[in-house]
Amino acid sequence: MTFDLTPEQDQLRDAVRALGRRYGHGYFVEKAKAGEHTTELWAEAGRLGYLGVNIPTEYGGGGGGITELAIVCEELAAAGCPLLLLVVSPAIAATVLARHGTEEQRKRHLPGLADGSAKIVFAITEPEAGSNFHRLGTVARREGDDWVLNGRKCYISGVDEAGHVLVVARTEDSATGKLKPALFLVPTDAAGLTRSKLDMEIVSPENQFLLYLDDVRVPADALLGESLDAGLPALFAGLNPERITVAAMGAGTGRYAIERASEYTATRKVWGGRSIGSHQGVSHPLAHAAVQVELARLMIQKAATLYDAGRDLEAGVAGNMAKYAAGEAAALAVDTAVQALGGAGMTTEYGVATLLGAVRAGRIAPVSREMILNFVAQHVLGQDKSY
Ligand SMILES: Cc1cc2nc3c(=O)[nH]c(=O)nc-3n(C[C@H](O)[C@H](O)[C@H](O)COP(=O)(O)OP(=O)(O)OC[C@H]3O[C@@H](n4cnc5c(N)ncnc54)[C@H](O)[C@@H]3O)c2cc1C
Repeated sequence: MTFDLTPEQDQLRDAVRALGRRYGHGYFVEKAKAGEHTTELWAEAGRLGYLGVNIPTEYGGGGGGITELAIVCEELAAAGCPLLLLVVSPAIAATVLARHGTEEQRKRHLPGLADGSAKIVFAITEPEAGSNFHRLGTVARREGDDWVLNGRKCYISGVDEAGHVLVVARTEDSATGKLKPALFLVPTDAAGLTRSKLDMEIVSPENQFLLYLDDVRVPADALLGESLDAGLPALFAGLNPERITVAAMGAGTGRYAIERASEYTATRKVWGGRSIGSHQGVSHPLAHAAVQVELARLMIQKAATLYDAGRDLEAGVAGNMAKYAAGEAAALAVDTAVQALGGAGMTTEYGVATLLGAVRAGRIAPVSREMILNFVAQHVLGQDKSY
């Protein structure tokens, strides 16, 4: 067992950290408040190869794994730039394409994802189905060579920045008469696809949307994979990378908040010569949060290692646990940091309260803490499914 990164991973961590710090949380918040995107940071990260670290080299990527992508997510977040679209585009879409796309789809989409010139977002959540994906109501109907999609999706991140949206729909299986999942690469400017931006209480340059699919017609090759049978495995292929990278983003955000607070409490003096950090009522909650973040980081490392070793089932358990732990730790760290900074904690200038909405959302999305506990209860503890 080793807890060391390889020299290449160490170099990647240092380089991404340096890039993130050059932009910093001030840039992230400024963009969010102006209703703009972090276009410059995304483009530079793409140029430097950080967005494609997990994409195979033959498609322009770095040939690494989810361990490398988790490093990118964590370090940008630790610099105050938690980019949710890293989870959606390189983690979910690129993995699904690399593992289950046709050769033509891989050649067409992966190079752009690798250099950051293209983004593909992911749409599974629906208003009626919510956490219960078995109830998905978006239906794909075959008409000649085309597919025609109808349905509604909600909370879909980054549609305004992406060229394509990977839509999870269902088709009728002619063999069994049952509905089965299928993934479609739908251009965001397709006729019949409309969107409305949701007002979210999150300070973020990335937006969430309601998507309406009304007779959206796409050609046969928009279906991800060689056949309808690719749908289910492709859907599952995206889950572990999603959980691991979102956990890494949470751990990075937790580190960022604790670092901001520790700098402040070590120097702020309101009782004579002693810093407020010398009071254990201030330092212990921060130390506790630091322990929780570090524990989450260990679980992320385990999950990513298992995933990259091809041990998907074990990675599923570890990835869910890592996502749970990091989601809780990030929320704790940011809340504790705000408290430790007192009034300054609520200002925009000190840059911690700006993360409250994001870390709160991290306990809900992309999979809620309750659904993870359901998973652990069922698959680790052997309990009957309750729902
Ligand atoms: C910022 C943000 C970005 C997002 N981006 C995307 C995206 O890009 N693409 C996408 O497809 N989706 C996205 N989502 C949607 C997200 O994945 C869902 O919000 C999440 O899966 C929960 O679904 P829901 O909101 O419908 O909650 P519901 O399913 O309505 O659940 C409500 C509450 O009930 C709990 N609950 C439900 N069922 C059970 C049960 N059986 N046992 C115990 N508790 C239960 C849930 O945990 C939750 O706390 C995003 C959401 C947010 C907030």
